Amino acid sequence: MGNEKDFFSAKQTIEDTHSFAGKNAYQWAHACRYMPDGFTYSIFTESRRMAYLYEMYVEAASLRSPGGKIVIMKSAQMGLSEFGINVALWFMDMEEEPALYMLPTEPQLGAFVEARLDHVIASSQYIRQGFSGETDGVSLRTGWDQNLNLRSAGLVDRISDFSASLVVMDERDQMSTESVAMAYARQDATRNKWKVLFSSPSLVECGIHLEYLGGSRGKFALFCPECGEYVVPEWPDSANRNHPNSVMCPSYDHELDKMNGKWIHAVPNAPYKSYSIDSFASPTVSAGEMLDRDDAIDGDPVRMKAFFNLMLGQPTVELKE
Ligand SMILES: [Zn+2]
Repeated sequence: MGNEKDFFSAKQTIEDTHSFAGKNAYQWAHACRYMPDGFTYSIFTESRRMAYLYEMYVEAASLRSPGGKIVIMKSAQMGLSEFGINVALWFMDMEEEPALYMLPTEPQLGAFVEARLDHVIASSQYIRQGFSGETDGVSLRTGWDQNLNLRSAGLVDRISDFSASLVVMDERDQMSTESVAMAYARQDATRNKWKVLFSSPSLVECGIHLEYLGGSRGKFALFCPECGEYVVPEWPDSANRNHPNSVMCPSYDHELDKMNGKWIHAVPNAPYKSYSIDSFASPTVSAGEMLDRDDAIDGDPVRMKAFFNLMLGQPTVELKE
């Protein structure tokens, strides 16, 4: 007794999961993408909390069509490549159009495809079944009958002869203007023409920083229980040797709540959303490490640039000879 009903409800559950998962790339990845630890993808685990990504996932699912764009200027190691993969796969499955995922160099692309993307496909049954289509070296995977084109900005003449409605640029500031233009030209005959750009910044008012300035200029704020409001952490005032594992209220000796953050956009009605994120939001970098790294600069301009671009996610002015 009840078998037929159980069968029916199991089928219904799968359908419900898929329709819920289709809402955005986070719900999609959380429902079907298995991680090396055996759990599905999550940005809300206590040990590796990346809740700052959630608004980006929601935004990426509601971009205007055609021509939507989302821009993220970031410090290193903030989980954005995972974000880019999830958005690209979700887009192919749900929007049913081809995508382009672009990295700066051919070695970076090879490592990305073999060590990361192929693992994502192989380790999740739902995705593996979707990806039974064509593959070609490191330049093409086919899932749900849509091509995922994989290219490096370094080989400009290979960014041709294919269509991609979604273009994901991973480390935009290491790509030439010519290869970026070639990538956008792949969108001409497509429906959505969406752009997802993320990068550590390089120079002030160039590349990702210029894109950031043209958007909503979001910053990630953390709740201060003592001030009773959300405040944006600031370097160096939010790093304090006496509280090496905490992010401090920039004006007072208050510890901010890293588990309670939200985005504040300076220009909410800008033509597209842009986000700036630094290591204060990182699940793996402590304020103490940021201070250690700052001490190690020791007047070296190259280390100074790396600290600002990669640790603080801030652009720098050109070094004078
Ligand atoms: Zn405070």
